[in-house]
Amino acid sequence: MALRKIVQIGDEVLTKKAKKVEKIDEKIIELLDDMAETMYHSEGVGLAAPQIGILKRVVVIDIGDGLLELINPEIVSVEGEQIGDEGCLSVVGKMGVVKRPYKVTVRALNREGKCFEITGEEFLARAFCHEIDHLEGVLYVEKVEDGLIDV
Ligand code: ZN
Repeated sequence: MALRKIVQIGDEVLTKKAKKVEKIDEKIIELLDDMAETMYHSEGVGLAAPQIGILKRVVVIDIGDGLLELINPEIVSVEGEQIGDEGCLSVVGKMGVVKRPYKVTVRALNREGKCFEITGEEFLARAFCHEIDHLEGVLYVEKVEDGLIDV
């Protein structure tokens, strides 16, 4: 495993759409391991591959309940609404208020290539939306309601 460098806002890789993973090979497994290590090292709760400069649809999340690895994640249903603070490892030192669905169900592949669905509420739902936005080249700063604040 190795730490990867997290790219910061202003880098155009963060504005590009990531490509679907066609084959889960050793490189993807290594990517997942490195992303988890990088996320934990930075004390983040989620990391998407574009944030380390890799335009692949791979996400890791851990909001404190264990590591989730999502390959080719897709939102299959959303419910309700929540308003809350959001930050990003690619936008260091800032935070902002973003409206997200309250409950989100995601379908993805695990590292064995098996399809699964997972439903998250509150903060996990927010993390799903935030990370999947990264795969579309979208940063939360575009969705902030009252501007960014320094933290
Ligand atoms: Zn982010």
